[in-house]
Amino acid sequence: MNRTASVGVDVDSLRLYYRIHGLDDRSASNAAWRVGVARFEELFAELGIKATFFCVAEDLDLPGNTDRLRRLVAAGHEIGNHTWRHPYELTRQSPEIRRMEVGQGRFRLEAAAEAPVVGFRSPGYNTDAALQKDVLETGHRYDSSVFPCLPYYAAKAAILGLMRLRGRESRSMLGTPKVLMAPRAPYVCDRADPHVRGKDGLVQFPIAVFAGVPLIGTAFTALGERASAFVCDLAARASNHLTIEFHAADLLSLRDDGLDPALAVQPDLRAPLDRKRRTFRAALKAVQRHAQIVRLADLHVVPAAQ
Ligand SMILES: [Zn+2]
Repeated sequence: MNRTASVGVDVDSLRLYYRIHGLDDRSASNAAWRVGVARFEELFAELGIKATFFCVAEDLDLPGNTDRLRRLVAAGHEIGNHTWRHPYELTRQSPEIRRMEVGQGRFRLEAAAEAPVVGFRSPGYNTDAALQKDVLETGHRYDSSVFPCLPYYAAKAAILGLMRLRGRESRSMLGTPKVLMAPRAPYVCDRADPHVRGKDGLVQFPIAVFAGVPLIGTAFTALGERASAFVCDLAARASNHLTIEFHAADLLSLRDDGLDPALAVQPDLRAPLDRKRRTFRAALKAVQRHAQIVRLADLHVVPAAQ
């Protein structure tokens, strides 16, 4: 079996969910780190999976999070850089701020984790040539920000449009449609455009999309246990590599965890914890039947012959 897959968890704090939906984030708790991360650790331990946790460096200012980060490293997981403060509009920032978000994110995470941080994931999956250059020059070896998923892109465009009509400002941002034409398998990027193959850019691990279905936690929650396992089984058979993505909040539940009812705007938080756990377990087991799950940092990608 030489097919591989990798599993990433973006540790987005609940504060960011308030911001996406244009809500006041003052009552946000640390549950994504405190509860969500711990539940993913448990699930991965049960399945023998070593994953990549993409973390936001400023979250380390909250009590207990640095210990949680080190516990992940001690369990054999990889830490990836999800920026310093998770600005959704990273590609629209000034060059100085953009560089600081990428560089400080990596620097702080690496110092706290006491382990190498070589991977990057952009907030909201947006990237471009200037951001790629920053990611390369601040010591990263790979990026996993490209998400070539038409249903996701169309839904995001529609929601942001509706929110604008209702006078609500989301902090999220719609990136370039070029992402929809990007390769599906891991590739080496072109320096001038991270959405196309080249030979001297970053290694890119696009988030897996199979038959229009993104292999991400919220999609699994929407599909349920059997359909998620079915899609993952087919996808793993058909691909040399799958990059699967979760968010720490995917294993939180409004009802089971007594979260702020205002977060009901995020539909997957309404699903019961037990059902989500069973669904993710079934999806990951289906992948493991056909592919070996490895950390992104352990994968080697060679440029395509030119
Ligand atoms: Zn994020």
